[in-house]
Amino acid sequence: MSKPAESRTCQPCTGCCDGWLQIRVNDVPVYPGRPCPYSTGSGCSNYENRPVDPCVHFVCGWRADGSPLPEWMKPSNAKVIVLFDSSLIHISDEMHFKPGYENRRVNLTLLYGRARSVE
Ligand code: SF4
Ligand code: SF4
Repeated sequence: MSKPAESRTCQPCTGCCDGWLQIRVNDVPVYPGRPCPYSTGSGCSNYENRPVDPCVHFVCGWRADGSPLPEWMKPSNAKVIVLFDSSLIHISDEMHFKPGYENRRVNLTLLYGRARSVE
């Protein structure tokens, strides 16, 4: 688990709340097309009381203490989530986009670090 940088906060980013990372919040699955019920799309409506796992524990590469990523790469701005621990995610989940060209997007996740086998 990475330690968050004190100078970098999540709000109004909801990059990991809107399904781009496969998570469960209070046992509710979150995936593309089905964001966390607390996500407003511009922040978390329950941020002070968000679950410890995964919400408090998850720290993306931009928010991590000592991150080399510049300010503009905040996921809400760059539309990219960078993870520095490559053992966390090795698969792409099934996509659930609404029909229509305007609802499609490219999701790019850059994985850094030495990969280890998932046990
Ligand atoms: S993607 Fe990063 S900055 Fe955005 S909500 Fe998640 S941890 Fe916070
Ligand atoms: S509870 Fe808040 S921080 Fe956690 S996934 Fe939902 S919107 Fe994001």
